[in-house]
Amino acid sequence: MEEVIEKLRAINAKRVFVQFPEGLKLKIQEISKELERNGFETYLCLESSWGACDVREDEAKRLKCDAILHIAHGDFGIKADIPVIYYDYFLNGNPVPILEKEYHKLENYQKIGLVTSLQFIPATEKVKEFLESKGKKVFMAKSPLEKYEGQMLGCRTGAGKALESKVDAFLCVSAGKFYGLGLALDTEKPLLNLDLEKCKIYSIDDVKNKVEKIIAWNRQVLKDAKIVGLLISWKRGQMFGNPSALKTRLEKEGKEVYLLAMDEFSPEKLEGMKVDILVSFACPRISTDDQAKYRIPMLNYYDIQSSNR
Ligand code: SF4
Repeated sequence: MEEVIEKLRAINAKRVFVQFPEGLKLKIQEISKELERNGFETYLCLESSWGACDVREDEAKRLKCDAILHIAHGDFGIKADIPVIYYDYFLNGNPVPILEKEYHKLENYQKIGLVTSLQFIPATEKVKEFLESKGKKVFMAKSPLEKYEGQMLGCRTGAGKALESKVDAFLCVSAGKFYGLGLALDTEKPLLNLDLEKCKIYSIDDVKNKVEKIIAWNRQVLKDAKIVGLLISWKRGQMFGNPSALKTRLEKEGKEVYLLAMDEFSPEKLEGMKVDILVSFACPRISTDDQAKYRIPMLNYYDIQSSNR
């Protein structure tokens, strides 16, 4: 927090627009109070903030804020018109008791690739030490796009992919399946989650298989579809691919195509639209993780590239 305050002072910020993930709601008032004690006025953004791909500079400027504070998300590489300060908010969690209890699940793997999300970077050190004390070879890589060794995003798995040829399996230190599933879908190697919330180590192959089956099915739906909706978000960092190019291609195949633009997707916003399938150009995890919420089948841009899954 001190580092964040220093950074805000260095840019002479007075009114700060604060974006934070849902999981930090219980802490955000405390953070806000601390910032206000240090002389900053804080506007807490209660719109969802899934990642630093979503930098709300227009809203911040409209509210005459002179900086954005993005909490618990690393720099996604977005160039904004006002300064954006990233607060590497780490969560405490001791993986050692979980490793002691669940170690047998890792016994078959000698070379282990360790990955995580920003919040759990400090925990990876303890995991590495524990595994090495058991004679395992632990590999970690740093993606040029992320700040820390082992760090991945839900849509950027470079820190894991770089190790694929070296390891027998991956271990993802996390809470929930979100980060592990991203890499599991991008690799053929087994992936186990070390879940600091559930206090368990488990494979997520079942979820991976289910997602892959849905993608295969939906690809066929796209082939047969007469009307296609291309889902576009105007969040700053959430444009993956070129919707106009796909529209032209699909129209040449005789399909009717609509470009459907919004901030955040929801099934309610699509009520009343007559389309056979959706192709999302926004966060690629919407179609893999939220598919069940939608009445209309959905693919993402990467699913329709032949070289990708
Ligand atoms: S695009 Fe999706 S997975 Fe990637 S950072 Fe944004 S919210 Fe996370």
